[in-house]
Amino acid sequence: MNTAATSIPERSAAEAADLVLTREEAAPGVLARRIRQRRQMYVGQVASYSLGALVLLLYAYDGAIRSNVPSLFWIGGVTIIGIFVVMSEAGVGDRHHDHYLTVFQISAHMALQFVFLVSVPTIGIAFISVLFLIFAFGTLRMTSVQAMLTSAIATCALAAVFLASDLPIGMPVTTRLQRTASMLCFVLVIGQCAFLGLFGATLRKILYRRSIELKAAYQRIEELAELDELTGSYNRRCIMGLLDAEIEKSRQAGAPCAIALIDLDWFKRINDAHGHPIGDEVLRTFAITIFANIRPDDRFGRYGGEEFLLLLPGTASEAATRMLDRLRSIVAELDWSAFSPGMRVTISAGVVTLRANDTADTFLARADSALYSAKAQGRNRIATD
Ligand code: GH3
Ligand code: MG
Ligand code: MG
Repeated sequence: MNTAATSIPERSAAEAADLVLTREEAAPGVLARRIRQRRQMYVGQVASYSLGALVLLLYAYDGAIRSNVPSLFWIGGVTIIGIFVVMSEAGVGDRHHDHYLTVFQISAHMALQFVFLVSVPTIGIAFISVLFLIFAFGTLRMTSVQAMLTSAIATCALAAVFLASDLPIGMPVTTRLQRTASMLCFVLVIGQCAFLGLFGATLRKILYRRSIELKAAYQRIEELAELDELTGSYNRRCIMGLLDAEIEKSRQAGAPCAIALIDLDWFKRINDAHGHPIGDEVLRTFAITIFANIRPDDRFGRYGGEEFLLLLPGTASEAATRMLDRLRSIVAELDWSAFSPGMRVTISAGVVTLRANDTADTFLARADSALYSAKAQGRNRIATD
């Protein structure tokens, strides 16, 4: 009938997720948010004690308990809440591991229930049922050690009350009103436990959603670490790693492997004539064009500047040359006039296939030398060795 059920909305459940075990100094925004959350919780607790006191009023009206018990119960609960409100507003919890001071709250509310259990044992079961609610609240925030500690304290207190005393602990059900009040005690506890369960489920759902978002963000970071920012192709480190892997794979499978070093022709002139930003756009468009015209297993990366490395796994010399010549003509025939009227962009490439004694370095050196011949032969062409 009393305590900790709160009216914390779903949004703050999300925020609560990061609040349980944070030790570090919180930013001002976070502190303000925590205070807001605690206020919501205290409002919920006052509502909870008020409902409990109303049920006690029924017992008092029926004469089952003294008339001052409901008000004392309410005042007791609100006093505890008031103390925690003052501490909350003073930021005491913010310096603590758990800013809700859950264990202290649980202990205080538990103590109050035991005081009333001993003082008004005739409706003792009602106060005991509240213990379930207190612990339901605690499970949302307590660590396992805290949970064990508080439940051990509760067990000792219950043992003292039940075993070391002869208090007539009960739940009056003689009159219709008493039966109604007793039923309401349980209904209130169940209702508030269900509310807390809902809150916990929301919290889990949000944590699950966050873990998925985190996974996606992590994947994105990995992608960014692999990709060249300007062109979206693999960066040098990554394409070199892929080259090593392809050489290894090709050797193991006994399959051919071709690579092409592609370089944009007279690119310095493009920069000089149209500006560096247009040069960037040309590089980006070139990369998109290549991506659109290679096979899913081919790997395309920026080797440096306006030079790119294309890996063509399982491709023999002739097919590789054909493929590169097709890419060359696609680039040459592309309408570049959107960047600047009359603009022409061409590429040259050196295409080579893996030989038995090649290392990654010699393989690349051969491609570079083939590229050099393509340039020497007049550019806008493919050369091999
Ligand atoms: P060649 O046909 O012999 O390859 O002539 P080139 O002008 O393309 O060759 P060079 O290596 O002399 O010039 C390459 C130019 O590419 C120089 C450099 O400023 C430019 N460049 C390299 N990286 C970038 C980039 O990220 N953006 C832009 N806009 N330009 C770049
Ligand atoms: Mg160039
Ligand atoms: Mg170059």
